[in-house]
Amino acid sequence: MSPDKLTGHRVQFAAAARSAREQRGTWVRLGVYGSVRGSRTTVGRIRNGKADFAPVGAWDAYSAACEDGQAVWARCIGGGPAPAPLPDTMAVRIRYDGEGPGYEGVGVLTVTISTRCPRCGGPRGVETIRPYRFAHDGQHLVVDAWKNPCGHEDVYAAVLAESRQERRATPTELVQAAYAAREIGVNAAQAANLLERNGYDDAAALVRGEIKNREGTFTSLQVVGFLQELTGGEAR
Ligand SMILES: [Zn+2]
Repeated sequence: MSPDKLTGHRVQFAAAARSAREQRGTWVRLGVYGSVRGSRTTVGRIRNGKADFAPVGAWDAYSAACEDGQAVWARCIGGGPAPAPLPDTMAVRIRYDGEGPGYEGVGVLTVTISTRCPRCGGPRGVETIRPYRFAHDGQHLVVDAWKNPCGHEDVYAAVLAESRQERRATPTELVQAAYAAREIGVNAAQAANLLERNGYDDAAALVRGEIKNREGTFTSLQVVGFLQELTGGEAR
């Protein structure tokens, strides 16, 4: 008898949870989901101490975008002193080669990026950030270097691109600003369309689902509260 897909998934999940418990304090990737909603439901179950994750407060979990969907990462924190919380973002100094040819604008830029690896969603090596000195054209410059525990390496060009993306308005900010500027009206469907136009397909789908749940009595301002509550911060 072969286990069906769901049973197989549960077995994998339980094994990952067991492994995470054995390595208390270490972030472990528990699974990957096709949607933000699926991953956030799991994060909620873990934080609320359901099933393999009892009791409440014994686990820390988050979901983050990764190359193949939305990854759920968790660490067991029960039964000992609480490890330092993982910040959402980190500021790092990177080498900037300028926009034009000839390395004329070479210098150091401080940028803010997520503490999650864009490839696997795992935590970046925040504690490993160290100064790295180099010389360019007689100038002595200092940037930051770090090592991610997942093994994926960050290159400065990708980090710069990510920081530019990071400065983009979050779904909640976008809806609030558009509503204040009267670019969208009171109807939540307009907020959903706005989110979709700006590439926030997951957030748009969640809002549309909620419009159905609330049978049409859902306003753009309620969308703001809904997104905040859902994400415990911000969804990307
Ligand atoms: Zn990684």
